[in-house]
Amino acid sequence: MKKITVAKGDGIGPEIMEATLNIIFAAGAKVEIEEIEVGEKVYLAGNSSGISSEAWETIRRNKVFLKAPITTPQGGGYKSLNVTTRKFLGLYANVRPCMSLHPFVKTKHPIMDMVIVRENEEDLYAGIEHQQTDEVIQCLKLISRPGCEKIVRYAFEFAKQQNRKKVTCFTKDNIMKQTDGLFHKVFDEIAAEYPEIINEHWIVDIGAAKVADTPEEFDVIVMPNLYGDIISDIAAQVTGSVGLAGSSNIGEECAMFEAIHGSAPTIANQNVANPSGLLQGAVMMLNHIGQSEIAEKIQNAWLKTLEEGIHTQDIFQDGISKQKVGTKQFAEAIIKNLGNIPSVLKPASYANNSALHLPKYKRKPASKKDLVGVDIFVDWKGNNPNELAEKIKQIETEGIKLSMITNRGIKVWPDGFKETFCTDHWRCRLTPKPEKEINKLDIIHLLQNALEHDIDTIKTENLYAFDGKAAYSLGQGQ
Ligand code: NAD
Repeated sequence: MKKITVAKGDGIGPEIMEATLNIIFAAGAKVEIEEIEVGEKVYLAGNSSGISSEAWETIRRNKVFLKAPITTPQGGGYKSLNVTTRKFLGLYANVRPCMSLHPFVKTKHPIMDMVIVRENEEDLYAGIEHQQTDEVIQCLKLISRPGCEKIVRYAFEFAKQQNRKKVTCFTKDNIMKQTDGLFHKVFDEIAAEYPEIINEHWIVDIGAAKVADTPEEFDVIVMPNLYGDIISDIAAQVTGSVGLAGSSNIGEECAMFEAIHGSAPTIANQNVANPSGLLQGAVMMLNHIGQSEIAEKIQNAWLKTLEEGIHTQDIFQDGISKQKVGTKQFAEAIIKNLGNIPSVLKPASYANNSALHLPKYKRKPASKKDLVGVDIFVDWKGNNPNELAEKIKQIETEGIKLSMITNRGIKVWPDGFKETFCTDHWRCRLTPKPEKEINKLDIIHLLQNALEHDIDTIKTENLYAFDGKAAYSLGQGQ
C-alpha cells in the first residue's frame, strides 16, 4: 500500500478527482490517500503561496502527489502554486504525452503519438527580473549544465524504457549561442551514449511549425522550459484533445501528477467536466509507483470507453459519439470496462514502466577561469553613441580601454549605424590594452571613476574565458 497526497483543487477539481479516485480504486490501486487543502481557499485566507507549511510536510513525506487543477485568484501578489511546487521539490522533468485518438476524437492529425519532455526548473522561469532604466527591464535566462544533463538524460532513459525510437531536441542556439548552445551541446554529448536511439536537433521555430503540421514525425522531444511550456500546449491541442492530456512532474525525490488543463470554473459543479486529463495523470502516477498492471487496466478501459462513443460534452460529436454523459457516468462506464481492451485504438502495454532512477549529477572538475574584460551597463539619456564613448573613455584605467558599446545587443560604437534605434540602456565593454591584464580591482576603479564622472552605472557583468575559450556573446554586428 502506497500513501499518496491528494489535493482536490478548485472549480471542476473536486468532481474530476472524485471520478478519478473511483476509477483507480475500482481497478484495485493499492494506494492510501492523505488529503491536503491547497489553492483558492488558502490564497484567499491570506497565504499568498496557496499552500500551508503542514501541507508541504505531507507532500514531502509521501513523495507522490496527485493534484487537481487550482484557481490562482486574479490580482497581484498570488504566486503560481504549480511553479512553486515544481521548483521547491526539484521536479525537473515535466512529461506530457500527446496522442491522438482517431477516429474517436476529432483531430487533423490521426497519426500522432509524441511525448514532450520539458525542463521544469530554470530558463526564463527562474523569475529573476529587474527594471534598470526608465525604458528597459531584463529577465535573466539561466541554463545550467546540471539542468541540461538531468533533463536530456531523462528524455533518453524514458525513450529507452518506453521502446521509443527517436529523441528530438529543440533550441534556439543560432541566436542564444551560450545558453541554448549549452543545452544543444549536452544533448549531443548524451545522445552519443544511446546509439540505438535516433537523435536530431531542430531550431525551435521550425520545430514548433512541424509539430503543428507533421506531428507524426516526432517521438520524444526534449526542450528548455519556455519552449516546452508553449509547444506542449500546441501538441496537446493538435491531438484535438487539450482536455484529455495529463502530465507528470518528476524529481529525484518527489513527483507530482496532474491534468494539463485548469480549473474551468465556468463549468464547475455541473457534472459535465471531462475527468480524462486527471485520470491520465493518475495512470502515470500508478506506473511511477510500480503499479503498472493496474495502470494498464485503467488505460485500456478508458480507451475502450472512448471507442464505444461514450463521451463527455467537450469531445461529443454527432455522427461519431454515441452517448453524451456527465463526469460521473463517464467514470462509471470506464469502471464497467475494466478488464476490456480497445479493438481499434492500440492497447496500452506498460511492462517495466516504473519510475526511472537516474544517476545523480556529478560536478566536473573546475575549468581554468580567467577574467578577460567587463561589460558596464549604463543608464544614459543621450542619443549619440559617440558622445557616450567620449564620456566612458574618461573613466578608462591605465590598462583597460573601451572596446565597444551596444544598445539592446547591437553594436553602436565604433562604426554604428545612425538608423539603429537606441534606448537609455547601454552596454559598454572594457577590455585590457595589448600586453595588459584585468583584475577585479580594475573593475572597482572603473566604477569609482564612473561615480566621479557622474555616469549612472546600473550593473556590471564580468567577461570570462573558460579553459582559454571566450564565454560571452559578441555584440551583434561586431
Ligand atoms: P482552463 O483549462 O480551466 O479552461 C480552458 C477551457 O477548457 C474552458 O473553456 C474550459 O471550460 C475547458 N476545459 C478545461 N478543462 C476541461 C475539462 N476537464 N472538461 C471539459 N472542458 C474543460 O483554463 P483557464 O480558463 O485559462 O483557467 C481557469 C483557472 O485555472 C485559472 O484560475 C488558472 O489560473 C487555473 N489553471 C490552473 C492550472 C493547474 O492547476 N494546473 C493550469 C492552468 C490554469
